[in-house]
Order: sequence, then structure tokens, then C-alpha cells
Amino acid sequence: MKYSLSPIGAITSPYKEKFGIPRQPGLVTAARATLTLLPPYNLPETVRGLEGFSHVWLIFVFHGTQAQGWKPTVRPPRLGGNARLGVFATRSTFRPNPIGLTVAELCGIQVSGSNITLELAGADLLDGTPILDIKPYLPYADALPQARAGFAPDAPLAPQPVVFSAQASQQCAQKQAQWQSDIRVLIEQILSQDPRPSYQHGQVVDRVYAMRLYDFDLRWHYTAAGIEVLELADLQPDT
Ligand code: SAH
Repeated sequence: MKYSLSPIGAITSPYKEKFGIPRQPGLVTAARATLTLLPPYNLPETVRGLEGFSHVWLIFVFHGTQAQGWKPTVRPPRLGGNARLGVFATRSTFRPNPIGLTVAELCGIQVSGSNITLELAGADLLDGTPILDIKPYLPYADALPQARAGFAPDAPLAPQPVVFSAQASQQCAQKQAQWQSDIRVLIEQILSQDPRPSYQHGQVVDRVYAMRLYDFDLRWHYTAAGIEVLELADLQPDT
């Protein structure tokens, strides 16, 4: 049997590429995203009562990796990329149906004519992610603190301190004014997770890493003392 699903909304997020996105929601609380409802769902009625909830579940399409298909087993980055586990034992993006699940803080709902947007914090979603459904988060039913969690019993340790070069500090201040968002804290939270695969954690490699956030390339490197943010470089026009 086949089912046809169409998105009810789309995400605008600072994460413009996969590399560097936290591996679960809530790890980077400073990440602000907007969910815009698509026609014919962009009616004030569809979100009536949602303002009473502090958090929402979002069901989404892994649109950035969908074309790569799936395999019965995957190597979770959490396990250093060596051990293979069943796809259904992981939260891998490479699934038979490319459907993701995330929980986000609902910071506000804006209704302006047919433009209906949800302001979200803490989501782990790529810019442009299609949203299939929104459901209110119900702590009494959805929070199970005693549950066993296999190979991921706790949040990953935030391994390293993050420092900013003088140039990066100054650029953060400019970007914060431009985007009205606490970009310095966002960068600290993202990098303290160390986006590299876990087998590389703790290694000091002589190279500069980069990820796209908002309208800039964040560049950093690893030193014996931790992670140093080098610059927030404006994107070249052809990228
Ligand atoms: N919380 C989700 C996602 C877990 S996998 C779930 O459990 O289903 C986490 C990874 O999903 C992130 O590191 C990010 O790189 C990736 N991701 C986020 N949005 C995506 C998208 N639209 N397409 C493909 N990958 C995405």
C-alpha cells in the first residue's frame, strides 16, 4: 500500500548544510528556526490552541539525504563510525522512509493574514526542511526519563572549550545585529559538540574546518587548548 504525504510547512534555519548540525534537538538551544505553513494549511484555525504548548513535535522529510536511499545497517557517529547497528536501532537519516522526528521549543506563533509562522528554538533541522506534521508535546505521555537508551544513554559530552579570535568576536557582534540572534552563543554551542566524527575528538589536526551558517562560512581550527573560531567569512557571490 502506498501513501501520499505532502508538506504542511517548511523550515528556515541557520543551518545551511548538514555538516555541523547537532545530532539531536535540544543540544544547541540557541538555534532559532522558523516554520512557515504552506497553503492550504496556512489558516489561523490550524494553530488555534497551540500557543498553550511550550514544545512541539515535528515530523519531517530528510530531504537533504533522501536521494541516497537506505541500508539495513548503519554506523552511528556516536559509536565512532565503526560499529554497525540496524537502521531501526538508530536515528540515522538513511531510512526506508526518509522521515525524521524532532522536538522544538515553541517560542511564538505569528499570524499575519495568510502568513503563519512558528518561531522555534533548539531544532536540529537543515534549512528548507519540509515539515509533514506538527503535534503538541505532552510531557505526561511523551517524557519517559526512566527509559533505557541502548548505545546513547546520555547526551554526548561537550568535549572542548571554544574561544574566539579578535576578528571572529568582532564579526559575531556584526552578525548578531544583522540577524537579531545570539550568534556567539550559537557558535559556542555548535562547536563545543565538536561536529567531527567522534573518533576524531581530541585530535589536533592542522587544518581549518568550515560550515555554513546564516549568510557566512564559520571557520575554526583545533588547538591544544580547545577550539578556536577564526572568522565568520562572508560567502562568495558564486556559492
Ligand atoms: N532528530 C532527528 C534527526 C536525527 S539525525 C531524528 O531523530 O529523526 C540528525 C542529523 O539530521 C543532523 O545531524 C542533520 O545533519 C540531519 N538533518 C537535519 N535536517 C535534515 C534534512 N532536512 N535532510 C537531511 N538531513 C537532515
